[in-house]
Amino acid sequence: MLRRRLSLFAGYCVIIGAFVIAGLWGNRAATVFSGNGIKKDTVCFVIDAGHGGIDGGAVSCSGVAESTINLQISLRLRDLLHLLGYDTKMIRTEDVSIYTSGNTIAAKKASDLKERVRIINSTDRAVLLSIHQNHFVDSFYRGGQVFYASTEGSKLLAEAIQNQFVCTINLGSNRKIKPVEGIYIMKHIACPAVLIECGFLSNPEEEFLLRSDDYQKKVCMVISTACSDFLEKMQLDPTVES
Ligand SMILES: [Zn+2]
Repeated sequence: MLRRRLSLFAGYCVIIGAFVIAGLWGNRAATVFSGNGIKKDTVCFVIDAGHGGIDGGAVSCSGVAESTINLQISLRLRDLLHLLGYDTKMIRTEDVSIYTSGNTIAAKKASDLKERVRIINSTDRAVLLSIHQNHFVDSFYRGGQVFYASTEGSKLLAEAIQNQFVCTINLGSNRKIKPVEGIYIMKHIACPAVLIECGFLSNPEEEFLLRSDDYQKKVCMVISTACSDFLEKMQLDPTVES
C-alpha cells in the first residue's frame, strides 16, 4: 500500500514537473499536453532498456552498471508515456537478459539481441526507443546524443529528441544526431527507431545526475515531448490541429 502511494506520488510529481517544464520550454513542448486525450492506437512505443542480466553494458565512474540506469529511465519513460495516453511495450522490466538459447556468454548475448528484434518486429505500429548511456575514456565529454536507424521516420524522431536535449537539459551542447553503425538491433528492425545515449557515465557530474530521480525524470520529459513532436510531424497524432 505504501509502495503504491509512493508510486502515485512519484507519478504526480512527474506530471507537475512536466507542466512546469512544458511552460518553460514554450509552445512546442506544450503540445504534449494540448490534446483532450491522445488516441492510443496511433503507435506503440517499444522501450528497449539496453543490456541487462549477463550484460551490464558500460560501468559508470562510481561503479554503477549502465544496464541499471537504462532500466530506471526506461521504467520512468513507460510511466510518463502512459500518463500521456500512449501505448508502450517494454523489452525488459527487470535486470535480466532475454536470451532463449546459447551455451556461452557470447551465444546468450547474440540470442538476447535476436529476441529483442523479434519482439520489436512483432509489434504493430512500433516506434523503438532504445535507452543507453554513453562512456568515453576522457571524462570531459557530456550530453545526450541520439542515433537513428535507416528506417523511415527514424531521423525525424532523432532530430526531435536531440533538439529537446539541446533546448533544455543540455543547454549549449553541440552534439548532433548520427546514423547508427554496427548495432545489431538497429540493423534488423523494420520500424522507426532511435538509440538514445542519455549522457556520459564517464563524466562525474553527469553520472551523478543520471543516477538521480529528478534528472531521470527530466530525461524522460525530453524524450516524451520529442515523441509528441515527432508524431505531430508524422501527422500520426489525431489531436494535432491542422
Ligand atoms: Zn549501452
